[in-house]
Amino acid sequence: MNHPVTDDMIAERLKAAGLRPTRQRVALGTLLFRNGDRHVTAEMLHDEAVRDHIPVSLATVYNTLHQFTEAGLLREVAIEGAKTYFDTNTSNHMHFYFEHNGELMDIENQLSPIVAAPEPPDGMEISRIDVLVRLVRKSE
Ligand SMILES: [Zn+2]
Repeated sequence: MNHPVTDDMIAERLKAAGLRPTRQRVALGTLLFRNGDRHVTAEMLHDEAVRDHIPVSLATVYNTLHQFTEAGLLREVAIEGAKTYFDTNTSNHMHFYFEHNGELMDIENQLSPIVAAPEPPDGMEISRIDVLVRLVRKSE
């Protein structure tokens, strides 16, 4: 199921999204997209870069994640009071949020509880509806 993602593939993907494939962007893009869909914070990706001996600062990782998001390669999932996650799955989907450890999980193949979108105020349109289902452990 895992087909290897090469730097060339990442460079092509960046170009197609309108981003110049700099060495740092390609290196971080390869970390992000080589293992299927995932949710990462800037800190998590920076840790991985350090482990892979990619010389990059946390600020650069943060900027790159935002550039990827603006280019449509990532989707930002902000959780108030917690970290901002960047999702490699940019399709419309809902999330479970585990409050005890701060992890995020995709909700697959389930209908959205939102049956009708609310009417936006005059002059506005809905860009996306985020659904985050917060979870805590059941009490025994
Ligand atoms: Zn997701």
